[in-house]
Amino acid sequence: MNNTLYDALIAPHAQEEKPFLVCDDQSEVTFQGFVERAAQMAHVLAGQGMQPGDRVVVQAPKTADMLALYAGTVQAGCVFMPLNTSYTLAELTYFVTDATPKLIVCEPGSEEDIQQLAAKTGARVLTLSQDQTGSLTAEADQQPTEFDTVDRGPDDLAALLYTSGTTGRSKGAMLSHKNLLSNAAVLTDLWKITDKDRLIHALPIFHTHGLFVAINTSLLAGAQVRLMQAFSLDTVFAELPRSTLMMGVPTFYTRLLDDARLGEAVVSGMRLFISGSAPLLAEVHRAFEDRTGHAILERYGMTETNMITSNPYDGDRIPGTVGYPLPGTEVRITNAETGVPLSVGEIGMIEVRGDNVFQGYWNMPEKTAEELRTNGFFLTGDLGQTDQDGRITIVGRAKDLIIAGGYNIYPKEIEDVLNDFDSVLESAVFGIPHPDFGESVVAALVADKDQTIDIDAIKTGVEEKLARFKHPRKYLILNELPRNTMGKVQKNLLAANHQD
Ligand code: ATP
Ligand code: MG
Repeated sequence: MNNTLYDALIAPHAQEEKPFLVCDDQSEVTFQGFVERAAQMAHVLAGQGMQPGDRVVVQAPKTADMLALYAGTVQAGCVFMPLNTSYTLAELTYFVTDATPKLIVCEPGSEEDIQQLAAKTGARVLTLSQDQTGSLTAEADQQPTEFDTVDRGPDDLAALLYTSGTTGRSKGAMLSHKNLLSNAAVLTDLWKITDKDRLIHALPIFHTHGLFVAINTSLLAGAQVRLMQAFSLDTVFAELPRSTLMMGVPTFYTRLLDDARLGEAVVSGMRLFISGSAPLLAEVHRAFEDRTGHAILERYGMTETNMITSNPYDGDRIPGTVGYPLPGTEVRITNAETGVPLSVGEIGMIEVRGDNVFQGYWNMPEKTAEELRTNGFFLTGDLGQTDQDGRITIVGRAKDLIIAGGYNIYPKEIEDVLNDFDSVLESAVFGIPHPDFGESVVAALVADKDQTIDIDAIKTGVEEKLARFKHPRKYLILNELPRNTMGKVQKNLLAANHQD
């Protein structure tokens, strides 16, 4: 029997007695225990009549059992579909109606509501809770610890992962066994992850970062994962001295920097800090290096493509850049309208091609055709530029580009100027509709700790640095920027809330 992902990530650990997952209560799941638990989960799925290719929707707390369910779903030949735990029932209705799963796994507290939804689509419902109780857990406990792995080839789907919905409605990205395995292999190699590593895992596991980047690489390398319920400073500081690796979103790093405990001593056993999912401010990168001696390794990726670029492991990790295309992944910068490749330094659409690129959007053939060229290049929707030696810098999302009076305005250029003011902690520049110019530029500012923002001083500074058409027409001072669970600034919310 062959199952591309299972055979590479899970099966090799069947006899391994080392701890794989270490949970918040310090309970451990060994690799062998994980393989056995996955088999039990696979039996539950098979017992529910799940066939290869059937979707398993999971909206459940971050637990060892949820990861075992992921592995078991792959082993049973089904398609894993995790959902953000903060989605409401109304939001869930969209995902479930779109994906038509045969099984929905949820928390016991939402079972009743979800039963009603499931009744409409013919799905079964099982529960999984934080304390590892629930009907799925109970059923799994009764199952044999070995399962005849279902055959699945490289091009079969392993997961249906919905995008974060930062720019609009979430889209289901169809990810094949090959998409996931190829990326895990490249990252494990590039970041030199081994069975000596211990990963601080404080990310959600319903997203590509916390699930595929973190867990698939750990499984492939045989690394240990300290599975944290959520990002808590106390827990992270307790675990840093006995860990080697951390993967985080930029807000993790700003929060660590805000804590006096961060210094060289506490990170002396750490090998690598990785950041992604949202832009890491160059200032944060520099401040972290000053305090700890560690240059954060920033990488770039997305749900549809897995990871695309990474700063080097050996070599300079340059603040504000996302590094080089991963081995086996081609990146080109093109004119978004014509698709013609651009030269070094020119800003355009980041396009990507490789084994990491998804199979298309679920139920959206037209959108797939618009964004996935027939030559295999995927239009990421992000704008960027390359430098002489091929390093990539992200300039922002194409959707965030502001066009005012016929001029292209890149918010990041203005945000970089604003962030340079001592009084400004961070900023977000966005466009709102304007009757004459099409759009006009608005800047939202957040003050740095114990500082007051003097808008007149900011305006003067901006006038010195930026051409007139780029000057924000309006400034807002906010307590914080609206962010989703992955630390992404929600510019669509800012624009919607500040139309006037
Ligand atoms: P949606 O596609 O539904 O609007 P989303 O694009 O935020 O949501 P994800 O797939 O989770 O959904 O996020 C991918 C995006 O995150 C990328 O397209 C890019 O804009 C951003 N991103 C990821 N890593 C980085 C990074 N290192 N620097 C800047 N942006 C990043
Ligand atoms: Mg996207």
